Amino acid sequence: MKTHVETRVKKIYMGRLPTDQDLLETLNSFCKKHKIFTGSLNLIGAVSRAKMGYYDQKKKRYTACVELDKKLEIASCMGNISLKDGKPFVHAHVAFADLKGNTYAGHLMPGTKVFAAEFVIHEFTGKKLHREKDDVTGLPLWSF
Ligand code: ZN
Repeated sequence: MKTHVETRVKKIYMGRLPTDQDLLETLNSFCKKHKIFTGSLNLIGAVSRAKMGYYDQKKKRYTACVELDKKLEIASCMGNISLKDGKPFVHAHVAFADLKGNTYAGHLMPGTKVFAAEFVIHEFTGKKLHREKDDVTGLPLWSF
């Protein structure tokens, strides 16, 4: 079974996201607009509310969503870009920090509102990566 592809960086985008926009939806729109089909993401900044998912491995679905209606730092946000249902899809995980340094982390969900965010996206060349439902995990994973 093929487990990976080899690729190269085609272009690097550095940018910031507008205040009060949805973090994940804005990243997905940016990738669609710039036709970024395969890539990696890293981002730091701050949010005014946060929403993260937790995948239940037994039930094979996102069962728990953590919603935090407070101002938080994005201590780290990293992810990748590939195609799902033919469209660019950002899969990102995030660690938020509060003013005491407590952290909250999970799978980034729509519903996270940007206060300020700076991102670096590496767009890759070569074969496009598509997500397809994996029977073992139930997740839409890369198919090679
Ligand atoms: Zn995830």
